[in-house]
Amino acid sequence: MLKIFNTLTQKKEILKPINFNTIKLYVCGVTVYDLCHLGHARTFSIFDTIIRYLNYCGYQVEYTRNITDIDDKIIQRAFSHHETIVQFTNRMIQEMYIDLDNLNILRPKHEPKVTNYIDTIINCIHLLLKKKHAYITRNGDVMFSINTANKYGILSRNKKLIQSISKYTNHNTIKKNSADFVLWKSAKFNEPYWMSPWSKGRPGWHIECSAISHNILGKNIDIHGGGSDLMFPHHENEIAQSACAYSIDPNVYVNIWMHVGMLLLNNEKMSKSLNNFFTIREILKKYDPETIRYFLLSAHYRNQLKYNDNNMKSAQLALKRLYIALYGINPIVHSANDEERYFTLKFIEKMNDDFNTPEAYSVLFEMAHELNRLKSKHYYIRAQRLATQLKLLANILGILYQNPENYLQCQVSKNKNPFEIEKIQKLIQIREDARKNKNWELADKIRTQLTTLGVILEDEPEGKTRWR
Ligand SMILES: [Zn+2]
Repeated sequence: MLKIFNTLTQKKEILKPINFNTIKLYVCGVTVYDLCHLGHARTFSIFDTIIRYLNYCGYQVEYTRNITDIDDKIIQRAFSHHETIVQFTNRMIQEMYIDLDNLNILRPKHEPKVTNYIDTIINCIHLLLKKKHAYITRNGDVMFSINTANKYGILSRNKKLIQSISKYTNHNTIKKNSADFVLWKSAKFNEPYWMSPWSKGRPGWHIECSAISHNILGKNIDIHGGGSDLMFPHHENEIAQSACAYSIDPNVYVNIWMHVGMLLLNNEKMSKSLNNFFTIREILKKYDPETIRYFLLSAHYRNQLKYNDNNMKSAQLALKRLYIALYGINPIVHSANDEERYFTLKFIEKMNDDFNTPEAYSVLFEMAHELNRLKSKHYYIRAQRLATQLKLLANILGILYQNPENYLQCQVSKNKNPFEIEKIQKLIQIREDARKNKNWELADKIRTQLTTLGVILEDEPEGKTRWR
């Protein structure tokens, strides 16, 4: 049974789908004003793994991840790049795909752009006004009235913060309560706008997720996720809006709320607002995409994860060990035997426990260890079968999708210049010829020379040589 930690109840709960074998999953997406950073990569590779695992368990996943393609920063950036909003956001969305595809993150089934849902959002705001949960200010903004929301604060439980803001009424602003937040923003001079019954303007940020998730997934959602920094105020406000607009109990709007822990850089939260972040693009200059993916799943998703060179190097090494175990074995399709079933069940047990990826990794290492043993004893058929199983389970985590030979040679290539690679290939060829001519002395000499270059040779019975 799959158990998932629910932020709302602070307990691990059994996943009980609303509709038989379909899971309605909504994850807050990217505001496309800049390149994606490593924090995005963590959240989206975690949910990508969750979806792959749910599919493995036989569920269909209605995965919805929105794209915020209108906000203040987007307007500023488009202006400074001398592009229209549409030109700029389309370009940034393509950049986002390049990065996320690189990390083997599958694209969502539904990927709604906010600007395609303005009518849906206006309808949602209209409902909130009609039910007196919102009000129009004198400058044409529409505000959500926080005092009218039942159970506001149930998700973040940050009572002190919530009490302090909701009691405080700021008479200098046009808000009734300083914690009230904007649903519709009237356009300033020269800003893009859409027509609405209240003013020419654009939607606030929080309202888009309430309106879009209701439109695509319906009143209730199985799982709603995002980074833990979105818990307050974004998700808290979303609960208030959805519950008030669509008359849903705040406790049942979403069955399970999932939050991914923060990524730390120099012991501080990695974030754009603190200017303490790396883009995925920057990290890809130093490490290959699969190493980054491995690293991102190396801590439990609810825990913090520290980005530093040591942790990246450990990830690189771990991945290499798994590829070395697979190296030289051709996986075969087969039905699992007892030994393989044992590993699979263990893997499932770890994933069923709130998607415990670090523990799932340890199962893969047990398999790799056994694989190395089988190889050393020349039990090739058993090794082939186990290798197949190892790849299958690792693919659920989005890793080990490359040919081991290519991967390992690529690792060597990265540290050497093209001239050295050519030299290695030439030496291997000379050595193969020497072996054919039974010139063992020369063959051994070349092997030693290659070893000093960090190249490991494995001779196959037919006379061919593999290298890594
Ligand atoms: Zn959202």
